[in-house]
Amino acid sequence: MTRPVDDIPEATPPATIAEWDRQFVWHPFTQHALWNQRDPLIIVAGEREFVIDAHGRRYIDGHSSLWCNLHGHNHPHINKAIAEQLGRIAHSTLLGLTSPPAVRLAKHLVELAPPGLTKVFFSDDGSTSVEVACKMAYAHWHHRGQPQRDTFVAFRHAYHGDTLGAVSVGGIDLFHNVYQPLLFKTRRADSPYCYRCERGKSPTTCGLACANTLDTLLRESAGCIAAVIIEPLIQCAAGMLTAPSGHLARIRELCSRHDVLLIADEVATGFGRTGRMFACEHEAVTPDLLCLSKGLTGGYLPLAATLATERVYDAFLGPIDAGKTFYHGHTFTGNALGCAAALASLDVFEQDRTLDAMPAKIELMRRALAAMATRPHVGNIRQCGLMAGIELVRNSGTREPFVYGEQIGAKVCARAVAHGVIIRPLADVLVLMPPLCITEANLERLLTVTGRCIDEVLNEQQPASVDGLE
Ligand SMILES: *Cc1c(COP(=O)(O)O)cnc(C)c1O
Repeated sequence: MTRPVDDIPEATPPATIAEWDRQFVWHPFTQHALWNQRDPLIIVAGEREFVIDAHGRRYIDGHSSLWCNLHGHNHPHINKAIAEQLGRIAHSTLLGLTSPPAVRLAKHLVELAPPGLTKVFFSDDGSTSVEVACKMAYAHWHHRGQPQRDTFVAFRHAYHGDTLGAVSVGGIDLFHNVYQPLLFKTRRADSPYCYRCERGKSPTTCGLACANTLDTLLRESAGCIAAVIIEPLIQCAAGMLTAPSGHLARIRELCSRHDVLLIADEVATGFGRTGRMFACEHEAVTPDLLCLSKGLTGGYLPLAATLATERVYDAFLGPIDAGKTFYHGHTFTGNALGCAAALASLDVFEQDRTLDAMPAKIELMRRALAAMATRPHVGNIRQCGLMAGIELVRNSGTREPFVYGEQIGAKVCARAVAHGVIIRPLADVLVLMPPLCITEANLERLLTVTGRCIDEVLNEQQPASVDGLE
């Protein structure tokens, strides 16, 4: 199945692609005043945990092609499943019709998900899975005679996607502030960002003090709250902020006590990244609504699912003129190619015993990161499963950050490309999120290169303050 790069018919030379890119493409999360000055890295192929550029150079895909690839690129089993489905039909709709791949995938997801989640609603990407969850949560209360529950609770620094509903529950000022006037009502709960704890406490002794603010908020306002939305265990886009153990279970308990729905956004954490299939499993939590996307198809095709409990689903049942139908659906809902890829990805989990191989890789990552922690500008290292964030700071004693415009994180990642590794920072947090299939040797290399690039960039940038770098 794997084709050597040389065989790929590529009529357009790389220089022309670069030229046309600058001329015609508007890239996501990209300042084009900077982008247009550089030559873009053009990816033309992939193989296992590598992507391959237009000149045939191979790079470790250190961010899983933005957090979605699981079993590697060009995986024979997933390729075959997509090709076989393509030979039958690429897409038909779930509006008024059904199809085997969507049905089988829904059944499989219910069997894998935390117990109690019994219904699957398909959409296209992480953002739409969150839109669906928010609309379901609100309409569920509406249909139960509580339309005044029109407010959501989200965590500070949260990221749930870029459509306006997802932005409403987002909490990253840099991304979200501009759109404030367009958003629905959201209250903020404190984020468990222990390195910069607003209370100055330590995670070992704080007793989850930040979660207590949610208790207060819900005690005062539960009657107007539709749902609490959380990224379980780790707020990824905020800079890989890991929550202390017990935080998720505590949030679940508070939602149950105050009878508010809990939406778990596992768009990033789902499908093995934490070492278990879903992050919620680590604290035996069943949310009322569960959002899945990125890894759902093994990172091959855009597909998302929102899982709901029987209680949420039931609120939408009634005679047609009762107006309880969930009037929501996207054109490509339940796309057959996406569902076939997702089913194949779940097969690979079983065939390759993917989750069984995780503890050794997670431990290897933990040891390598621990060795990196002594570097002067490494302020804090946070790991959850096979995901990690390395927060670089100007002064690790005072935790003083670098100035955003200095682009230290971006410079380290640019250097990594020269060493055959692709990673992408969140401001000055270096994010490592390799495909689950990465070999231990290549995982080791990813970590070694990251450490070396930190040294190289900060040696040049901060000659006065790197005393002690080995
Ligand atoms: C990436 C992400 C989203 C948004 O997914 P898209 O597919 O980019 O719309 C939502 N929530 C979390 C936690 C994410 O990491």
